[in-house]
Amino acid sequence: MVYYRKYRPQTLDEIIGQEHIKNALKKAHESNRLSHAYLFAGPKGSGKTSTARILAKMINCEVGGPCNKCSTCLSITDGSNLDLIEIDAASNRGIDDIRELREKIKLAPTSSKKKVYIIDEVHMLTTEAFNALLKTLEEPPSHVLFILATTDPHKIPQTILSRVQRFDFQAAKEEEIIEYLKNVIKIEKLKISDEALNLIAKKSEGSFRDGLKILDQLASSGNEITLEDVENIYKSGKSEDSIKLLNFIADADTKSALEFVTELSERGISLKEFINQTLHTLRLLLLIKHDTKKDESLSGLSQKLSSPQIVKIVNSLGIALEKMKFVSIPTLPLEIAVVESCQEQEVPRGERVSQVPQGEENNIGNKPRDTRDTSKPRDTSNELISPAIPAPISDAQEIIIIKDKWAYILETIKPYNFSLEALLKQSKIVSFESETLILEVPYSFHKRILEAPKSRELLESVLAEVLGKSAKVSTVLGTRPVRVEELANVEVAADDEIIKIASEIFNS
Ligand SMILES: [Zn+2]
Repeated sequence: MVYYRKYRPQTLDEIIGQEHIKNALKKAHESNRLSHAYLFAGPKGSGKTSTARILAKMINCEVGGPCNKCSTCLSITDGSNLDLIEIDAASNRGIDDIRELREKIKLAPTSSKKKVYIIDEVHMLTTEAFNALLKTLEEPPSHVLFILATTDPHKIPQTILSRVQRFDFQAAKEEEIIEYLKNVIKIEKLKISDEALNLIAKKSEGSFRDGLKILDQLASSGNEITLEDVENIYKSGKSEDSIKLLNFIADADTKSALEFVTELSERGISLKEFINQTLHTLRLLLLIKHDTKKDESLSGLSQKLSSPQIVKIVNSLGIALEKMKFVSIPTLPLEIAVVESCQEQEVPRGERVSQVPQGEENNIGNKPRDTRDTSKPRDTSNELISPAIPAPISDAQEIIIIKDKWAYILETIKPYNFSLEALLKQSKIVSFESETLILEVPYSFHKRILEAPKSRELLESVLAEVLGKSAKVSTVLGTRPVRVEELANVEVAADDEIIKIASEIFNS
């Protein structure tokens, strides 16, 4: 049996950390005051679903409390209990899934006191599914307990949040992961050096599960686990590689820097790990520059880069790390960060110009102007909503999220399509309806460019990431006088096509 299943905590006491949650649940259970709906929020591997399953046992155990001996407890452990329904919202996110759930929920539990629904990654549900779930949470049958789990609580509508009792799980501390793994090491009679164990704990990034998986993987060799074994798993290149790349950037040697990224990729190095390691090096550089650290191997580099330059590289790499999650070409985000950082080095200080028009932020979210374009937003919902399910109360939550994340959306798009980002800065968010974001743009060529498949797909992919569901984009034309500075902005966008169209329009 894999460690992850074998060593899953089976009682609250076996869960390490999260003391406030364990105490609150124990007290509520003892005084018979458990809520009918919980939200467990927190990072991956912090114990949310383990706690949810233990809670299911606490409620349904035949002797009151997880005994892990009665048939109910045992069936929950081995996954055969019919009254524990686990739903992964990432793959069952539509309204039909929730509708089916609502139908089945009315039925009494088969053998236990309560039916327990665990909905994992609940933030992935569609708006319609959330609304259907809300109905159920408003009037839950007394034989049902809901446990919603999420790594991303800010994507959950307020209407849902107000109907659940929320617990925030903390990422595991390194020493907690070590404590947890030491127990497994003892039972499995593994041999492992302290350095190796410490590195596993560090690389697990707050996830008990990740730590256990790595230990499992390393244990299969049957040999003593060394630091080198662990390092090989997290092959991130050596710190010399980070120093080498940073030297190319400091010298504004874009060609060598890009070739080096290709070389790293060909060597099979995890670029995510490489970026993390480079960030670590940059942090050391900052400390060295401010005399809080000494490191001979970095002294040359620290003289070449100023503090603001280091901060800019950190920002570029941070964005690259974020974008790696959803690009199909794994090297691209790092390559963009490298090109940006090299260009930053080329331009002499003081001559840097802000390439993007400023002062347009106020447009975002203003009341839409009268539109002279009569085109209606495309209706993309091809799903009939039955009368029993209310139509979405409003799309307000999407609009709030989009406005809230607008700067991030623009930042994400910028490296891929600089002109699109510049155009979006001049657009206004009008509304979000029928899963479609409506943007108002001042000129018809804006509309044409924004609706070109290339631009639309990019914007839609970023929206999907931000909203946790797919969304379309549509544009409407607003009335707007020609202003000289806006023309200038368009030219700054530096896209030949835009300049061509713009000059056609304005020079005719
Ligand atoms: Zn039991």
